[in-house]
Amino acid sequence: MNNLHVKYMLIGGGLASSAAAEAIRKIDHDGSILLIAQEVNRPYHRPPLSKEYLRRQKPRHELFVQDSGWFEQNHIQLRTGRHVAHLDVARMAAQINTGEHVSFDKLLIATGASPAPLRVPGAALPNLFYLRTLDDAELLHHAIDKALRDGRPHDQGRGRIAVIGGGVLGVELAATLTQFGLAVDLLLGHDHPWAKFAGENTGRFLKPLSREACIAVHSNARPQRLEGDGRVQRIVLPDGSHLACDFAIAAVGAVPNKDSSTTRRLPLPARS
Ligand SMILES: Cc1cc2nc3c(=O)[nH]c(=O)nc-3n(C[C@H](O)[C@H](O)[C@H](O)COP(=O)(O)OP(=O)(O)OC[C@H]3O[C@@H](n4cnc5c(N)ncnc54)[C@H](O)[C@@H]3O)c2cc1C
Repeated sequence: MNNLHVKYMLIGGGLASSAAAEAIRKIDHDGSILLIAQEVNRPYHRPPLSKEYLRRQKPRHELFVQDSGWFEQNHIQLRTGRHVAHLDVARMAAQINTGEHVSFDKLLIATGASPAPLRVPGAALPNLFYLRTLDDAELLHHAIDKALRDGRPHDQGRGRIAVIGGGVLGVELAATLTQFGLAVDLLLGHDHPWAKFAGENTGRFLKPLSREACIAVHSNARPQRLEGDGRVQRIVLPDGSHLACDFAIAAVGAVPNKDSSTTRRLPLPARS
């Protein structure tokens, strides 16, 4: 199996890692840099995924942080679709899931986060979506098209979507989906949107604005179950009532990617 030594090893294929690669290259023109990215796409900006890209106002190629040739031109080895399977910080060495061993002088761990899973019965049904990656956004594009075409009829057209979670991402998604002419039910875990990080007053201000934007806001409506015939068709709320939907999106937080199966941290060696 191959052995490689690099001066800088960057684990993670997001903005933090790619910005670090750019910054290192500005101050160290020759030092070898290896960037390991779990996703198959080279680093891209996530914020448009819930906004311009989901609305199809920004083309795919504009999401990427660097042009396709940038890594090669700057002598940065980019390995996409790989993850670090083993990390031994004491020995300053790592193993990529392809089996390749890499030793390094300096290491950046920028493995980011993944969507927190919704833990209720029915959450494994295939049309419960999450949004974190470009692939997730593309799956959502298909689901949106199908709902607009064949979904449940409502006053403005077709398609009824349940967005679970009243944080930044949930509210943003609800707003984007209504702009397509979809009917949206926004299910909050608390009284008001953004309650967890922006407090009661901001939430009070935001709630009527959400309603003006044709979002049906449901307070204290944590789903108890997702039900349907092989796919989510209704959501059971705490009071036992049901909300019908063509698909659902869970935006209930993020958890750091620090899985011991992908990234094992051992004590740092003593510095001389
Ligand atoms: C839909 C959406 C909209 C957002 N909108 C905004 C906004 O408007 N404003 C704002 O400030 N922020 C926004 N954010 C948050 C912002 O995108 C994040 O703060 C940012 O992506 C963090 O970058 P990062 O590089 O630290 O981590 P990430 O973007 O999570 O990237 C980490 C990468 O590392 C990879 N990885 C994980 N484990 C390994 C491993 N073992 N080996 C190799 N690779 C690994 C992951 O697959 C991932 O690709 C949004 C996020 C999302 C999902």
